[in-house]
Amino acid sequence: MDIYNPATGEKIDSFQEDTKESVEAKLLAAQTALRSWRKTSVKERIECVAKFAEFLKKNVDELGMELSLEVGKPLNEAKGEVLGAAQKCQFFIEQSEEFLREKLVNTAGNTKEVIAYEPLGVVANISAWNYPYLVGINVFIPALICGNAVLYKPSEYSTLVGKSIEKYLHQAGIPKDVFIGVYGAGEVGRALCELDLDGYFFTGSYATGRKIAEAVSHKLVPVGLELGGKDPLYVTDEVDVKNAAANAVSGVFYNNGQSCCSVERVYVHEKVYAEFLQEFITEAKKLKLGSPQEEGISLGAITRKEHIPFLENQVKDATNKGAKLELGGKRVEGAGAFYEPTVFTNVNHDMLIMTEETFGPVVGLMSVKDDNEATELMNDTVYGLTAAVFSDNQERARAILSDIDSGTGYINCCDRVSGYLPWSGRGHSGLGSTLSQHGLYAFCNPKAYHIRN
Ligand code: NAD
Repeated sequence: MDIYNPATGEKIDSFQEDTKESVEAKLLAAQTALRSWRKTSVKERIECVAKFAEFLKKNVDELGMELSLEVGKPLNEAKGEVLGAAQKCQFFIEQSEEFLREKLVNTAGNTKEVIAYEPLGVVANISAWNYPYLVGINVFIPALICGNAVLYKPSEYSTLVGKSIEKYLHQAGIPKDVFIGVYGAGEVGRALCELDLDGYFFTGSYATGRKIAEAVSHKLVPVGLELGGKDPLYVTDEVDVKNAAANAVSGVFYNNGQSCCSVERVYVHEKVYAEFLQEFITEAKKLKLGSPQEEGISLGAITRKEHIPFLENQVKDATNKGAKLELGGKRVEGAGAFYEPTVFTNVNHDMLIMTEETFGPVVGLMSVKDDNEATELMNDTVYGLTAAVFSDNQERARAILSDIDSGTGYINCCDRVSGYLPWSGRGHSGLGSTLSQHGLYAFCNPKAYHIRN
């Protein structure tokens, strides 16, 4: 399979895809390696993870460049992702031992009741390309710390990154058959789903997540799904409008809108709408689109060039239904895959840009009369990943967010993930949690011990 630089269209490498047979052989190797790995202490496993995080920091220049070339994100953001990944390991490094320690929870007469945590076994980590370090870490780090072996399939659009992750985990002391890279596209993912693994953890689109859940449901093993979103941001009338607009522009356009938690819909209280729109456009016009490795670029290439016709279709749909184009609206001609930052007003929920995941630098802004209308519109979606409210009145923001059916609520911020907090989607945004103690326990089977002398 060939790997292309999305910013130039040039081939940068090629690799041998796995086959059904090679995936099967990798599973056998992992099952064998698991026997001794599961007997190691949590402390030893954490030491490997801490070394891995150090390698990421030490090699940030080389890894950032590779990431930028392969997925087209600006070099400084690519380096930020590598460092962010090292940072994200911290929760697991600091707190896993405590959470995984067995717990005496009751003494009933002459019986001690204890909970112990055992690994699931060999788990699949089928991953996405948009933040290959950050989203991979949500799964393979806690999985390894809990004593599982991992068959890791990065996206075919971030294969080089996947290989670097594999190399540095091994250098950090994870045995080579405990973490095994599996390389290729959907066909290879399907081959993984046909085998008998002990858990399936997927990051990607709802369409693929659903296929995976259906394909493995009869196995009755844990399935974790981190899927897409159509995340809303609401600006109340009690805000610093300039600050809200700057944050919203970053939430919409960072990584070219290719984040599961990108802001894809903005609702603004009518009292501040005109001022917000002006500030938002002023901020959006400051974004600099160009070669990802050039200094000062804020928007790089669209990673999958096949996604550009998808964006064009959403833009056409909005225009045909009466939306007003305020900025951008078209691809940039040339060999690379670039799309202008695009802003629409006069939008409604009959339009695809307000209902279907866009996953690109396109957004719709809508004026609302009050918090009730905002809440109703924010909830008018099949997704439920994150929602943001900007307000100087935190009680008001909390009240609104508590009525929103999403896994994460942001107050005066957006597009943010922390290792210390659970990351979970509702509805078509996913199933289960990663990160925090919830994301650690996702990779364990609890065992109940009833102990008498
Ligand atoms: P995708 O669904 O196209 O592919 C994801 C992975 O699944 C890839 O590795 C792919 O090769 C594999 N795959 C494809 N078909 C398969 C099949 N039938 N069986 C098994 N594996 C298969 O998604 P993508 O384009 O890589 O990522 C973008 C999507 O991921 C967006 O919807 C985004 O919102 C979502 N995402 C969610 C989160 C989150 O944390 N919730 C994080 C990042 C991305």
